Amino acid sequence: MKNFIFHRKAPAEDGGIRNMDHETGVKLLQYFMLCVLLVLCFILPGEGVKKGAKESAQQYVRQELQENDSGGNPGMQGSSGQNAGQENGGNRGISTENLAGSGNAAGEEEKSGQGSTAGGEEKSGQGSAAGEEESSGKEIPAGQKGTIVIDAGHGGDDPGMIGPSGINEKVLNLVYAEKLKGLLEAQGYRIVMTRETEDGLYDEDQSNKKAQDMERRVKIIEENSPLLTVSIHQNSYPDASVSGPQVFYFQHSVEAEKLAASIQNAMNTELEIERPRTHKGNTSYYILKRSSSVTVIVECGFLTNPQEEEKLQEEEYQNQVAQAICDGVLAYLEKASQV
Ligand SMILES: [Zn+2]
Repeated sequence: MKNFIFHRKAPAEDGGIRNMDHETGVKLLQYFMLCVLLVLCFILPGEGVKKGAKESAQQYVRQELQENDSGGNPGMQGSSGQNAGQENGGNRGISTENLAGSGNAAGEEEKSGQGSTAGGEEKSGQGSAAGEEESSGKEIPAGQKGTIVIDAGHGGDDPGMIGPSGINEKVLNLVYAEKLKGLLEAQGYRIVMTRETEDGLYDEDQSNKKAQDMERRVKIIEENSPLLTVSIHQNSYPDASVSGPQVFYFQHSVEAEKLAASIQNAMNTELEIERPRTHKGNTSYYILKRSSSVTVIVECGFLTNPQEEEKLQEEEYQNQVAQAICDGVLAYLEKASQV
């Protein structure tokens, strides 16, 4: 055993066997000192690092909270136009108050989700949204608050969704559109309807009627430069249990998202919704994509749900839905005018 140790240590102890005890003592002392040094070098700074990490984590959390205060959109920070509306009432508040105040906690979530993936694109989308806002702010004729386009989806050969009882979506869409028209006209807005009859917007001899129909709807919107556009539809889903109104907006339009949140909030609050839905961004719906107006699609409910299909045909509920959409529109316009 000893030999083994000596043999192992031999190169370092060249010829010093006599002073073994003393040297071992010195070496042990050296090792001890080295250990103390190691402790000083690694462990204490380690504490410092931990402390530093803790601090920077706290800073991060603080920063997050601040960002939430100014609009809850980490992916979009620094963009001047986007947060302007919320900053008016938002900077002094606490994040939760802001969320509750603007009534779109779900919207905040959606936005933060988008921000990370499409922040850049959203900014480019803002250009048109900001442009709309400008056009909404100027030259409102006396006695009129501005133009709103209401688009009753489908029509003519295109019935849209057909409910289990046989009701056509195109019929219901027009009913809701006309009710909304009445309510918004009473508020002093000029209303342009894309259709006021059962017919679609296509020529009978057209080979692609749907395409012409959609193009003409967008043309009406563009020609009228409205404050905003509301397209009325009824939803469908393979699972018949799914129900509730839902508002869609073009995902890259900040203003349309605000309008959608406002209408969704009014509908969820004013109507007795079993399972309230969240407004949702979309990048494929033609009318959302192609119109430069602040445009949303309001799906009043699911025709594939027999109970909701029945409710959607009751006049009292129709009036409530139209009123909720109207209130959502008015709340959005009121906020927009304060910017
Ligand atoms: Zn539809």
